[in-house]
Amino acid sequence: MMNSVSTLLSDYIQIDTSTSNGNEKKGLLYLQSLAKSYGLYTFYHETTSTKGNLIISIREEDLQPFNDAVYEINNKHQGARFSNPPTVLLSHVDVVDAEEEDWTHHPFLGAIVDGEIWGRGAIDAKQIGISHLLTMKNLKGMPLKQPLIQVITSEEESGSENGLKRLLSDFPFLWDDATVWNEGGGFLIEIEGKLFYLVETGQKGNMSFTVLLSPKKSTNPYLPSNEVDLLTFRVIDSLKNLQLPDEVLPLSVVKMLTLIAKELKVDFSSNNYKSILKNIPTKYNRMFSAMLKSTFTLTKISGGRKNTEYKGQYKLAFDARPLPGTQTSSLIKIVQETVKNIDPTAVVNWISTNGGYDLGISEEMRVRLEECLKLSGVNACVVPFMTIGSNDGRYFQPFKATVLGYCPMTPEITFDQIIQRVHGVNERISVKDLEFGIDQLTMVLEKTLKVY
Ligand SMILES: [Zn+2]
Repeated sequence: MMNSVSTLLSDYIQIDTSTSNGNEKKGLLYLQSLAKSYGLYTFYHETTSTKGNLIISIREEDLQPFNDAVYEINNKHQGARFSNPPTVLLSHVDVVDAEEEDWTHHPFLGAIVDGEIWGRGAIDAKQIGISHLLTMKNLKGMPLKQPLIQVITSEEESGSENGLKRLLSDFPFLWDDATVWNEGGGFLIEIEGKLFYLVETGQKGNMSFTVLLSPKKSTNPYLPSNEVDLLTFRVIDSLKNLQLPDEVLPLSVVKMLTLIAKELKVDFSSNNYKSILKNIPTKYNRMFSAMLKSTFTLTKISGGRKNTEYKGQYKLAFDARPLPGTQTSSLIKIVQETVKNIDPTAVVNWISTNGGYDLGISEEMRVRLEECLKLSGVNACVVPFMTIGSNDGRYFQPFKATVLGYCPMTPEITFDQIIQRVHGVNERISVKDLEFGIDQLTMVLEKTLKVY
């Protein structure tokens, strides 16, 4: 199995599906032919000539609602439904761009060196696509009481318009109460010798806005005042340090910190949650602090006297990552007030305002994940966490779906190492980690899916 699994991932990596290349269909057709060779069933949902979504099932009947819906779309209905809420294994075929000169091994060669498979997508998220596919293969023949489908989407890294968003809008009645196994978790952190596996159970919001400052112009260099420039830096500084009042800690984060405190035998209550932070290794400080509050980051600055477009005026672009409980409207209000206090004539323009979500995990499922790790010889505590990035999981929220980001790796690699590879250089995964994820997902689903 070892060779074949790594070859499958290597071949998948070699199909360049990076955002600027954009030919996701090739990658999807590759997975489709593999699925067919395993005797699985497939449905290709075309969205553009080079993009689409692929659905894979172990039973033919689980694809029937898609075929029915296509028939109905042509006849102006879209009422096709599953008999029971489906379980969905979700990944994406597209990958972010890679600058080949920075890599030890070319990002689209899929090199297999010293037991590691190299290339863009080795972790995010081609590994997950392959892991899900082999999990489906392992589960073939299970007498399922509910639909189980694997979904591989396009454009996850660039807005999902021709990917998951289209799938959900073209087939709107298939997702109510679904359970979605997604990317974004299964990572390991080690604290005081104890192992904690993170399951993604929520995401921060993702908002962006621009600030166009006072139309007063920067002065010439002969009679300098730099008044406008300094105003601009005051706005940047105030937003960067903006602390929203009365922020409520997400339940997933409270649960995570409670479980960590219990394992470390540290006194803990959510009133003094900051006390546990001093036990957490400094390399995780930034990740943990980002889970505790809404943050603001400057992403672009344009202006200055010699800028031909803005002619002395300044335009700033910001990214806001609010905690899930934060009201979008109150965040908008606070940002406007902060900016107007410094520059009353500034114009704030909101580009996107996506709130976050926090679903938590049932104790039954959390313990099950721990049991499955134990069956592979890993003694660890599974903890929910809220991702500080964002992924396609959020689009399932209107359907009241349960979304769990989980595809675990062996204890040999920790979160801080993985995070540098995701969207970074020298992305790679060991064959052991790949196999571990497949074994774990197979076990977890065998224990979770209802059968006759
Ligand atoms: Zn991803």
